[in-house]
Amino acid sequence: MPELPEVEVVRRGLDRHLVGNTFSRVVVLHPRAVRGNDADLEQVLPGLTVTGTGRRGKFMWLTLSDSAALLVHLRMSGQMLVGAPGTVTSPHLRIRAQLGETELSFVDQRTFGSWQYVALGADGIPDTIGHIAPDPFEPSFDLVERARFIRTKSSAIKTVLLNQAIVSGIGSIYADEALWAAGVKPTRRARSLRASDAVRVLEESRDVMARALDQGGTSFDSLYVNVNGSSGYFSRSLNAYGRAGSPCLRCGAKMRKVVVNGRSSTFCPGCQTL
Ligand SMILES: [Zn+2]
Repeated sequence: MPELPEVEVVRRGLDRHLVGNTFSRVVVLHPRAVRGNDADLEQVLPGLTVTGTGRRGKFMWLTLSDSAALLVHLRMSGQMLVGAPGTVTSPHLRIRAQLGETELSFVDQRTFGSWQYVALGADGIPDTIGHIAPDPFEPSFDLVERARFIRTKSSAIKTVLLNQAIVSGIGSIYADEALWAAGVKPTRRARSLRASDAVRVLEESRDVMARALDQGGTSFDSLYVNVNGSSGYFSRSLNAYGRAGSPCLRCGAKMRKVVVNGRSSTFCPGCQTL
């Protein structure tokens, strides 16, 4: 499942390659890829120009010249591939779109992903995801206010970080990384955190994702843009996630795995003591 940095890398790639281009032809090859649409994408998209791209948390979209948006759900295995026409021959190709000389292909092996033509709200966010909280990279994200809100919650801090209605875009990997960086135990009750520690957890969440973005942002200059959120290139510098049983990179104690609300979490019992 792609997390915020992976989705952001995809968005940047699409922004670079698609903005200013106009849809000329759209062919839907699998009905599940367009489920949940009131409109027929093959009819509504041709003639519309991509005017920009947007993202909130793990959701991203193309803004269109009719002031609507094409919301892209990558889910488990969705890929947005940009290249010359005819480049993509995958058996899992679900939608093929022509934008001038550029072909945009939606490949999705497990068919959980989709494209959805949606209205944009006054805030520029698609109506269908208006209930999702801002992510830590958005200008409207108020760190101090969110930290205060987090401290009203009685669940474990790991669970709170994964709740997209409280703060969006943080998945299990980066939640573990942020808690390790902040020295906070994943099972710690959110409401028992000091204000400064809650702020620190949110700052670290943003910072670990920003660092992941820095690593992933260079993979795009090829002719054939593989904007695949599931690729492993962000996993090189993880300090917590997947390191259970290994020595902590900060204090040397043996990292442990614990299940928090059904989600497995790795932490260091030696230095994540807050
Ligand atoms: Zn440690």
